[in-house]
Amino acid sequence: MKNIQETALVDAVCKICDHVGALPVFTGPDRLMHHPGLFQVVRCPQCGTFYQWPELPWEQLRFYYEGDYDSYETALADETSPIRRWIRRRYTLKMRRFVEQFFSSGTLLDIGCGTGIFLEEMQGSGNWKLQGVEPITSAARYVVERFGIPVINERVEYLELPDCTFDVITMWNVFEHLEDPKVAIKNMYRALKPNGICIVAVPNYESISRLIFGKYWCGWDLPRHLFVLPRTTLLELFRREGFKASTNKCFIGSYAILGHSLAFLQQDLQGARYSLLAMLRRLFHLPVSRVLFYPVQRVIENAGLSSITVWVFQKVSK
Ligand SMILES: [Zn+2]
Repeated sequence: MKNIQETALVDAVCKICDHVGALPVFTGPDRLMHHPGLFQVVRCPQCGTFYQWPELPWEQLRFYYEGDYDSYETALADETSPIRRWIRRRYTLKMRRFVEQFFSSGTLLDIGCGTGIFLEEMQGSGNWKLQGVEPITSAARYVVERFGIPVINERVEYLELPDCTFDVITMWNVFEHLEDPKVAIKNMYRALKPNGICIVAVPNYESISRLIFGKYWCGWDLPRHLFVLPRTTLLELFRREGFKASTNKCFIGSYAILGHSLAFLQQDLQGARYSLLAMLRRLFHLPVSRVLFYPVQRVIENAGLSSITVWVFQKVSK
């Protein structure tokens, strides 16, 4: 792997604080979908944001979403494996229960809805007027045809949403994919009703997995993840745009991300270490391992140190 630690980048521009100039952190390939190319993560010395530089335009970036990406799941009713159906349902039910702590009914917009697995769950409660936003046309069409839920086939930065319309806007593992997070936050602010909330699930820079796995942490997911923000930077960004953070919780994706991080690490190992990790991964994927690991996972989640943090930001007056 190319080592460029010593060279400061003078032309990189941070889209979070507009600072010009950044420090290289590491370069890496597409470890999840194995598309070609090497991508670089840099850090803004002013606000601490990690971002990908140079930027890939969307016309190039969309190529890296093609293939077996997580968001391309079909409706739960079409899931053939009972175990997988149970895992998926458990996952979406947790998301719904989390949302319904704050609003039990109303209007909800899911940004980056993919094939609508979360919208399908919310539709099941019968209490919500739902809408999705999804830039990938085939996924957007699937949601409309399979669930009858309206979807805007656009990227959130280019949306023209009606003012003061939604009680809840959700972005499950989407924020880090955005070309311009600030514009997206402004759009959400405008589209929310007074005291409405946005629920934003993001890679947790402060997670134990990030500390252990370093550049192999799945939260980096190059080149699809364009930004990883330390907690204080994320909170300050939303505060500046008129939101207050009401709470945060780690409750989704911990085990899956750990599995991906192990796979990423294995890609650079050789010989006995490779074989050892291969064996560890086989054990990891046994259902009994998931059960045995659960108490540890809960401790890590309760301490706010797992790989995804779900933040709740409430719209307040600027
Ligand atoms: Zn910055």
